Amino acid sequence: MSDEIQREQKNGILQYLLDMRDQGVVKHIGASSHTPSVIQEILDTDLIDMLMFSVNPAYDYNHGDYAYGGVDERADVYKRCEKLGVGISVMKPFSGGQLLSDKTSPFGKALTQYQCIKYALDKPGILTVLPGAQSVAEIDALLEYYEKSEEELDYSIIGSFAPPEASGKCVYCNHCEPCPAGIDIGAVNKFYDLARIGDDMAREHYLTLEKNASDCVSCGHCNSRCPFSVDQMSRMQEIRSFF
Ligand code: SF4
Ligand code: SF4
Repeated sequence: MSDEIQREQKNGILQYLLDMRDQGVVKHIGASSHTPSVIQEILDTDLIDMLMFSVNPAYDYNHGDYAYGGVDERADVYKRCEKLGVGISVMKPFSGGQLLSDKTSPFGKALTQYQCIKYALDKPGILTVLPGAQSVAEIDALLEYYEKSEEELDYSIIGSFAPPEASGKCVYCNHCEPCPAGIDIGAVNKFYDLARIGDDMAREHYLTLEKNASDCVSCGHCNSRCPFSVDQMSRMQEIRSFF
């Protein structure tokens, strides 16, 4: 068991929270961590309803000196939270502002705050993104997210600086759209990944989609557009067989 969990057990905080929950004072328990292995241990306890986790492309792709966990380790956290119904609230969506400037971004190329928010919201399990703001003007600027076009929110540029281990893995960004068969490619892939780890709700969501992998006509358009080198055409066949 990790030092963090042992500490909370030893100092009595965990028991105190559980007592408060039994008395109805505390309605839900949440946890916050930057480390996937610690989060997995916390999820094992089945105690939490929400998680604060630092999510942005730099951390997910191990760029910079502040990223914990590999690409797959971090993706497993998102998927497991979605499956367990633990909502993730995102902290550090801009990596402390680093990602917003060419000079400071570990990728050498700036993203907008809107691309970063969309990136986080597309991940399974993520319910909300909480960037830090120091003024009403900054909050107003963040809320412009809702007025941005799909092109302005498209973060597929990160495919050009993602590490080799991220290649071929769908991040549900939908940059490969439009699909002539009308398939929501990101959603189909997300529900597939979740259903594969036993998420029954995701299976249901997949089955209620208006169009799914069975509608794929193997035109190859998605393959030619994907910045993450995903062989989506083959994946659609795999998904069709799975369901
Ligand atoms: S196949 Fe590629 S472009 Fe399409 S949703 Fe997946 S990662 Fe994005
Ligand atoms: S290969 Fe299938 S999923 Fe991809 S764009 Fe064509 S029809 Fe859509």
